Amino acid sequence: MTEGLNGKVVAITGAARGQGFEEAKLLSSLGAKVLALDVLEPQEALPDGVIYRSLDVTAPQEWDEVAKYIESEHGCLFGLVNNAGIVGARGSAGRLENVNVEDWNKLLAINTTGPMLGIQRLAPFMSDGGSIVNISSIAGAGAHFAAAYGVSKWALRGLARIAAMELGPRGIRVNTILPGYIESPMQHDTLPVFLDAHKSLISLPRTGTARDIAPVVHFLMSDASEWITGVDIPVDGGALGHSGLQIISEGMKKMATELETGK
Ligand code: NAD
Repeated sequence: MTEGLNGKVVAITGAARGQGFEEAKLLSSLGAKVLALDVLEPQEALPDGVIYRSLDVTAPQEWDEVAKYIESEHGCLFGLVNNAGIVGARGSAGRLENVNVEDWNKLLAINTTGPMLGIQRLAPFMSDGGSIVNISSIAGAGAHFAAAYGVSKWALRGLARIAAMELGPRGIRVNTILPGYIESPMQHDTLPVFLDAHKSLISLPRTGTARDIAPVVHFLMSDASEWITGVDIPVDGGALGHSGLQIISEGMKKMATELETGK
């Protein structure tokens, strides 16, 4: 699985920090030429082989400038990782009953319209056989408490499937990763109740890190996944695996213990 990226050009949005930064580091260490795109300046020195360019994913003309740059500097693009995203209002302001239209539109513009623009504007410059990865979330597989975020991440899965169908004849694959709780700057001000709820949801004994996601991005960029397109891959410590039924298992275990011990 370490072969196959030598010299290939991969653009990653939101790569100034967090998961995107880790993906940029891994792919460049495996020989890719990585274009790190973000509204933020990189938070740490970028490794050799990674070039930073400022991009606001919501701005069509900025995507066109990236496309021109790729064409003139590299000829074509092999991979695109639509990773940039924001979480929006935490707590009650994010609930459907309270969400305001301005926040809703801003979040969807970054999390969903951004990836659509990336695919629309860069796919014409991609080599046949390339790969696109959308970073959704387990919030895109259930009823997430933050309405706009949940909807934006569901939409990404749909976008990937439509793109997979349209770009399939060119051999371009489009897949989606659904991370669970990942320790990253996005979660630095997370509410303790949110973290505790996640911990009780996962089957494995720890929360995730950016290093859990980057190898899966690599897999989807590599020839090892050359016949995989239009799929969702949860990388979530088992959060989605039990489909919410863990609570029943825990209830039964508690009951059995009470019967055994008489307490
Ligand atoms: P992060 O906040 O550390 O990184 C997000 C990056 O996106 C930042 O560098 C930010 O500057 C960039 N960004 C924001 N708006 C942008 C814009 N308009 N244009 C360009 N770049 C922009 O968070 P992260 O955890 O690394 O998140 C990466 C992706 O993973 C996001 O899409 C997020 O929704 C998703 N995700 C995160 C978690 C988690 O628990 N951290 C869980 C599931 C999914």
